[in-house]
Amino acid sequence: MTIFNSDEQELLERIRLAKAQSIAFLNSEKQPTKRMIGAPVKKKLNSKSGEECPICKEKMKLSKRRQTPLDNTEATVEHILDLALGGNNKLENFMIICNRCNEVNNQLMQEYLKIEIADKRLLIGSLDWRKELRTSEKKILKLFQYIEWCLKLGQDSAKGEFPEIDTLFSKYRYGKISPVLPIKSPSILIKIISYFGRLISGFGKSESKNLSNSSGPSVRMEETEQDSQRTPEEIDFTPEEFSRSILQMSREFPVFFGQTYGYLISKHSRFNLSNYNISPNEYLRLHCSDFLEIEERPDKVGQIHYWISPKKKAIGAKISLDASKIIEDSRKRAQKNSEKKIAKIRREFTNTNTHTIEDPKSRFRKLIFEIFSENETNRLSLSALGVRMSRKVQDEGYQNSKEYFQSVHGSSMTISDALNSYFTNEEIRFTGIPQIVNGMRTMKYTHVELHRRD
Ligand SMILES: [Zn+2]
Repeated sequence: MTIFNSDEQELLERIRLAKAQSIAFLNSEKQPTKRMIGAPVKKKLNSKSGEECPICKEKMKLSKRRQTPLDNTEATVEHILDLALGGNNKLENFMIICNRCNEVNNQLMQEYLKIEIADKRLLIGSLDWRKELRTSEKKILKLFQYIEWCLKLGQDSAKGEFPEIDTLFSKYRYGKISPVLPIKSPSILIKIISYFGRLISGFGKSESKNLSNSSGPSVRMEETEQDSQRTPEEIDFTPEEFSRSILQMSREFPVFFGQTYGYLISKHSRFNLSNYNISPNEYLRLHCSDFLEIEERPDKVGQIHYWISPKKKAIGAKISLDASKIIEDSRKRAQKNSEKKIAKIRREFTNTNTHTIEDPKSRFRKLIFEIFSENETNRLSLSALGVRMSRKVQDEGYQNSKEYFQSVHGSSMTISDALNSYFTNEEIRFTGIPQIVNGMRTMKYTHVELHRRD
């Protein structure tokens, strides 16, 4: 069992939050947040002048009169979770990096998350792009990879986790040849170097440190066919251990192998097969079939994805289906699964956010108490309450109150309904102005008062 230190724990939490934020955005119709650089961010920017860029380790400068185009080494602000992916302008979503790395990151995002329809490239973050993205599990996983990469930028712990993205980064940042090795090896370069190092040397655990003094021969950028003939004896875990551990990463089966493997290595890095230059899919196919049920599911473009579940005792008859049906089924399943996954992430996120799993009633009550106490009042207009409620639930990753009620309470409630159902008449009082509607005297409620009795 790996024990995370608090920094790692916090990072995992931030990654989860960023993913939840992004998913909420994907499912919404709202415009991306507009770029806004507030005073605290400017202050942060100013403070980084003369410091190293956390990505490339070049010393950054902050010229008094900046010229466009900016110099490569000018310090710039970067949204860690891009606004086009649901990011916001809160201080913690900013990172100060050099202008060159900033440009490269943007280029990389455009490339890695691109979706083309009939040769037309959809604008990242646009409604069309979101619609395409959320119906494809593969694309969602790719987005998640990218988000994780962004949040781990400049961190040593992410070594070799994202070879595909690192390769792109290296290509844009340093050109096509293998990167020139700086004396102070920045983390991202270590990642790239150790990745290439493995490809070059072709054997096992070459330490990135040993490689960082040799300028490696140039390497083709395409992914090299990995060595699938490697025997499992050279690996310091057995296929059985691997299988057992990966099954512990999920409670629902079958589960998509690629993502589960991602969870596994983030928890237990010793299972990271890239340390052995082995592709996870190869390892699964060649060594794990005795311990896992492995199901092949082709996607729309015919690429095979593996889904795993615990080994069944009795082996059922294999049913052969025609290929188009398999593809159609897999497409449906992918959509269903991505919906499930979104719901799950949202649940997990909400749970970790409130630290305990609470019933809908106490969650709602808590929200209301928070709103009133944050406003230091016991009386609010219904419209003000509505606005504050929306803000609260958006912080939890919901699009709006309607979605919150739908998801937490399983029904479409209004705030007034919920106030009536979850508070007693002594606790909550509606006030308003009398009205005559169709000759009947009624009240038009405009305000709500909270009488807290504890
Ligand atoms: Zn940089």
